Amino acid sequence: MSIPSLADLHAIGAAQQPTYPDPARRDAAVDTLRRMPPLVFAGECDALRDRLAQVSRGEAFLLQGGDCAETFEGVTADNVRNKLRVLLSMAVVLTYAASVPVVKVGRLAGQYAKPRSSDTETRDGVTLPAYRGDAVNGFDFEPESRAHDPQRLVDVYNASSATLNLARAFTKGGYADLRQMHSWNNDFVRNSPLGQRYESMGREIDKALSFMDAIGVDPAQLHTVDFYSSHEALLLEYEHALTRIDQRTEQPYDVSAHFLWIGERTRQLDGAHVELLSRIANPVGVKLGPTTSADDAIALAEKLNPDRIPGKLTFITRFGAGKIRDGLPHIVEKVTAAGIEAAWVCDPMHGNTFSTDNGYKTREFDDVIDEVRGFFEVHRSLGTWPGGVHVELTGDDVTECLGGGHKLSAADLSTRYETLCDPRLNRAQSLELAFLVAQMLSE
Ligand code: PEP
Ligand code: MN
Repeated sequence: MSIPSLADLHAIGAAQQPTYPDPARRDAAVDTLRRMPPLVFAGECDALRDRLAQVSRGEAFLLQGGDCAETFEGVTADNVRNKLRVLLSMAVVLTYAASVPVVKVGRLAGQYAKPRSSDTETRDGVTLPAYRGDAVNGFDFEPESRAHDPQRLVDVYNASSATLNLARAFTKGGYADLRQMHSWNNDFVRNSPLGQRYESMGREIDKALSFMDAIGVDPAQLHTVDFYSSHEALLLEYEHALTRIDQRTEQPYDVSAHFLWIGERTRQLDGAHVELLSRIANPVGVKLGPTTSADDAIALAEKLNPDRIPGKLTFITRFGAGKIRDGLPHIVEKVTAAGIEAAWVCDPMHGNTFSTDNGYKTREFDDVIDEVRGFFEVHRSLGTWPGGVHVELTGDDVTECLGGGHKLSAADLSTRYETLCDPRLNRAQSLELAFLVAQMLSE
């Protein structure tokens, strides 16, 4: 498989791209990126593809989560550790409570570019370019900060490299040892009912581990975790510069992440994003919103995975709680009847966003859960496998989504609203979601 040149890709046409005022600076940034070592390795991408093939066969469950938009400022040891901690805790809940192997993928180490519904933003009569993620411009509402700067692409590479380095250290270096799982949430088990539930599960797991110790069984899987990175493949300059031919397989891989997905706004069948991701050997995802037809989904599958490689394609549906039960069945049915094998994953976030009267973009925890429930109902009724969840979350105790065990209200949102883009589940809401999904999985 060959890859089109960057110029060819632009000629095909790509939505949601930055406009760089100085082509020479843009080309210099791309050249720098082309010389950088890979962030992930082809063999790791293949391993994830095999795991996702298990998901599409109903043998494993995908947990994919992280920020809506990572920020350069957020690349700190505490922040990355907290995100990993919540993801790993959720994975333990899902694995233990539902006895299903969980494939763990972060929206992490590359999730810096955002599609926007409008190119500009107006405040108090002043109009500037919209914030498109740290990969493109700055959040500050100032002309200089909002200008599109290609040097930021190199900054994304460096930030992603630092994040991945930490993630590898945490997941392979002892922190992710199952015997540590108690300490991951020490600070909140004491003062919440959910924490106590987590704690009692931890005690059961400890008992199982002691039993295994006693009989002399100590598998490596108890000490380290396979953790993969993912982001939306949005910026052609960045993704193209990091797409390389792997010498072992002679196939192109986008070595910026293990898994790349195409967003709802850039999944045009004849567009550059679909073209590029159809050429790489990484496993890829595509978001499907409520306007998708079954024929659209089939055409995307044929284009993105013409050779029907197991694990290559994941459909991430994001219909909204009110639409999933009516909208999804027909698509799943027709795609399945066409003999297409894909992992079906639920993004219960992006169809459930609204603004409160006091001006915060938010989501109701109950809507999020209701969409996941609808997703399970649809797949259960069709005999297909509800393969996973894709969520926006953070490891910190932010107040961005409404509801959950602490019953956050619209008035609470101002306490700790930190996201630069979409609202994320906080740590308690994320764990609660994991317990509820585990229950759905075992029903
Ligand atoms: C996202 O995942 O942050 C996003 C923008 O999603 P979607 O493309 O589904 O709207
Ligand atoms: Mn988002």
